[in-house]
Amino acid sequence: MSQIQCVRCGIAGEPQAFKPFSNEMGTRIYESICKACWAEWLKTQQQLINHYALIPHQPKAKEFLLRNMEQFLFGEGAPDSLP
Ligand SMILES: [Zn+2]
Repeated sequence: MSQIQCVRCGIAGEPQAFKPFSNEMGTRIYESICKACWAEWLKTQQQLINHYALIPHQPKAKEFLLRNMEQFLFGEGAPDSLP
């Protein structure tokens, strides 16, 4: 894939270097989210981790971050809230 049309910012640009996850969501992000938006999410994710003092491998924290990621990138799912 040489270029993608980002569903978040609407700009056609380079895809990410690799899939962020090896699952369906990873493919979806790879195919529809540009590098810049992904970088923005990583920053936001770090802020959430710091703000809520999350431990990222804990299942609850993981689920929380995944939900927020979906919302951030695709505008879907529940709004920000701790489980
Ligand atoms: Zn984008």
